[in-house]
This record gives sequence, C-alpha cells and structure tokens, in this order.
Amino acid sequence: MNEDTLEHQLYDQEAETFRNQLATVTAEGKRKWVYPKKPSGRFHRARVVVSAILLLVLILTPFLKLNGHPFILFDFLNRKFILFGILFGPHDFHLLVIAMISLVVFVILFTAVFGRIFCGWACPQTIFMEMVFRKIEYWIEGDAKDQRKLKAAPWTVSKFFKKTIKQVIFFTIAFFISNIFLSYIIGIDALIKIITDPPSEHLQGLFAITVFSGIFYFVFSNFREQACTIVCPYGRLQGVLLDRDSIVIAYDNIRGEPRKKYKRDEGWENRGDCIECYQCVEVCPTGIDIRNGIQLECVNCTACIDACDDIMDKVKRPRGLIRYASLNSIQKKAKWRFTPREIGYSALLTVLVSVLVILLLNRTDFSATILRTAGLLYQEQPNNMISNLYDLNMVNKTFDKIPITLKLENIEGELKLVGNQIIMEPQGNIDAKFLVLLPKNELAKMSTPIDIGIYSGNNLIKKVSTSFLAPMKKKDE
Ligand code: SF4
Ligand code: SF4
Repeated sequence: MNEDTLEHQLYDQEAETFRNQLATVTAEGKRKWVYPKKPSGRFHRARVVVSAILLLVLILTPFLKLNGHPFILFDFLNRKFILFGILFGPHDFHLLVIAMISLVVFVILFTAVFGRIFCGWACPQTIFMEMVFRKIEYWIEGDAKDQRKLKAAPWTVSKFFKKTIKQVIFFTIAFFISNIFLSYIIGIDALIKIITDPPSEHLQGLFAITVFSGIFYFVFSNFREQACTIVCPYGRLQGVLLDRDSIVIAYDNIRGEPRKKYKRDEGWENRGDCIECYQCVEVCPTGIDIRNGIQLECVNCTACIDACDDIMDKVKRPRGLIRYASLNSIQKKAKWRFTPREIGYSALLTVLVSVLVILLLNRTDFSATILRTAGLLYQEQPNNMISNLYDLNMVNKTFDKIPITLKLENIEGELKLVGNQIIMEPQGNIDAKFLVLLPKNELAKMSTPIDIGIYSGNNLIKKVSTSFLAPMKKKDE
C-alpha cells in the first residue's frame, strides 16, 4: 500500500465535507451547539490534576511578593514589568524583544515536536472551559443527552431555575477571573483598594473589571470552542507548525480501517479495530471526528483517547487506536527522531537564549553615561582654572528612590552640578549637566582622563570614565 493510499484512508470519503465546513456550523451557516459527552479515563484524570495545580498557581501568583513588591506584574499601562521579583522598564526594551523572539522560536520548536500539547494541558481557555465551566454545566444540567433534552423541553420552573442558576454561577466565575486577570496588570494591592474603597474613587478600575467580566462570561458561556477554532492565532498556525513527525493526537488508520460495526460472533479478520461506535466524536468538545485526520479544530484535549480506550477494553482489543503519535510513526512505523528542522530551531533557540542570559547577567540596577557637552571644548575660568561641561544621563531600574552625589575620583579639582541635587525616582530616567574645574597648571596634556564617582550617600554605585580637555601648553609654559 503506497503512502498516498494510506493517507487517503485517514479521511472518511463520504464525510469529505469536513474539509469544506466547520464542525460547529450548519450548512445554512448557523452555529451548531456542541454537547460533548462527559469525558472520563486516565488522561482526563491526569488533566484534572494538572489543571487544578495550574489554576492554583494562576490564582495565588498575584499574592506572592518579594521584598514587598509583586513577584510577577505586567503593568502595560505604565510600561513596568516585574518578573520573578526583578523590575523591568522601558530601558529594558531590547531584553523584551530578544525574550519575545526566543518565546516565538520556542513555541515553534515545541509545536513541531509535541504538537498542540499546550492547548490540551495548559491553555487557560481549555482549562477554564473544560475543567471549570463545562463541569459546572454537567453538574447542573447533566450529561450531553440530558442537556439536549433540556434544550428541547418547554420552559418550566425547573428549566428556568437550572438555566438561571448556571448563568449566575458562570458570571460569578467570569467576574472572579477578571479580578485575577486585572491583578496581574495593576497588582493585588491596587485591586484590593478597588474592591474595598468607595466605588466612586475607582470608576476606571470598576469599568475595566466589568468589561473583562463581560468578555469572559461571553467566551465561556457562549463563544466556547469558537475561541480556539476561529480566534486563536496559535490554533490557526498549526498548518505550518506541524509536520508528519510532530506528535499529535491521531487515529491509527492502519489499525482501525476498514471500520465496521462490531458483532460479538464475527471475529476480527478482514476488518479494522474501529467499531464505528462514534464515542470519540461524542466526547469531542470541538465537535470533530478525529478519524478524519489532524484538524485545525482539535485542541488535543485527550477526551477521544480515553473514550476509544474504554471501547477497546470492552471489545478486548489493545488500547491506543487513538493515541499520541506522529503520522510517520503510524504510517511508516518510523521511530521518533529529531528532524533537521527541529535541530535548526534548537540551534537558533540556543543562540537566542544564550544572548538573553548574558544580557540578563550583565544587567545592572543603575546605568549612567557621561559625555562632554557637544560643541564645547573648554572654558577659561578665574583663578587659573579650566572647566569642561558634561551631560549626564542616569537610569534607576530599582524600586527605590536614590539621592545622587557626584565626586571626582582620580584627580584634585571641583565638580559643580548645574541645578539642584539629583534625586532619582524608582524607574526614573534623569538628564543633568555638571562642570568639572581643574587647575590649569596641573594639566600637562590636551586630554586628561578623569573618573567620576556616582554616590548614593557614601555608597559608590557607579564609576564612569571620561576625558577633560585643556588648551595646548605653549613651549615656554
Ligand atoms: S471510539 Fe474508537 S472505535 Fe469508536 S468510532 Fe472512535 S475510533 Fe472507532
Ligand atoms: S479530536 Fe479528540 S483530542 Fe481533539 S479536540 Fe476532539 S476529543 Fe479532543
């Protein structure tokens, strides 16, 4: 059997329409509501545990502090970011750019190797949808069959009560998520202030919470899988990120075809292991049939693996008709290998991460540059002194205010600041000017190297070297 024939077997020819229309849209273009059957099985149990841990991390992280400051903060409004207690600001833009490029390359590499494993196990959309909102729906309205029945039933007190209580709980959770989301942007202290102060003092904050709550409520109560299939750019990029060696959730068509209904007394000769029970389709939260091959809609939730394993147990066939596998491992029995494409991505990622680490290790909390003011050489001053004017630029990357004093380090002379004493605000950036005055007869050369010490109190926080210009000495001087 050649490869083309094998690949063609992946697709149910009669149902080839899946290529032309979304599983969640009817032929008339209307939304087809998905009622996935309650998932169960070993992968689902493992996902419940992983989801619970990730939800805990997500909820508790905003409360974590280091030296009184948030552990993590993404304050886009003030361009202030705190990662693992370290403050990053606009002056760290180059680090942000390299970090973002590294992240993109990492995502490409990770997806090329492991497919959409992130979507199923760690994506907040999938976790909230499948592990929080969907579970509440099962609890209130029952399994898929009951939900369909309830939808078709006339409005009674019981139906009204169930639908209302579900929506109230959904909105409450959406409100809670929006608070958590906001705490990552403005910090938990600011959020607590919004909650505890009179509403009139935080109209902007309350507006933001209301808008976020509305968006989350809409996404989880109505939009659901459409967020993954229509909006998510990561999902839509799968076509270029995956290849035949990527590990995806795949149906083993070699083993499963030709599919046929199962009859206990017929045996397993001249047929595949798929018994056409449709359990893999019934549990799918995006409404697809994984037997049609890899599809953009598949969020790797593992529900079809569990459903099919359960069926295989019942008909006494080996598990894994649907499993984590690459197309090449199914069709060519190829062992997993690190492909040249993945080696290339890894090399690029190694370079990027190395550069990032070097830059991070050399990053200082305080930076300063001193340049002689452009266009000026030197000035003759009374008492046989020569002066040079300098431009000073300083960046304070810390959480603290720093009062600054400047001193000449390696030569006797005077240093005069133009203006008041400098006090650097946290995350502040300051430009200042100062004069250095040196006695003319001490200056043997036209250019003399000088060191300027930048002090906070008695602590030398930085020493900057520059040069001092003086007139050329005449031969008889
Ligand atoms: S659950 Fe397994 S046996 Fe049943 S239809 Fe799906 S692939 Fe075939
Ligand atoms: S095809 Fe399987 S893994 Fe993919 S979304 Fe549907 S149930 Fe989940």
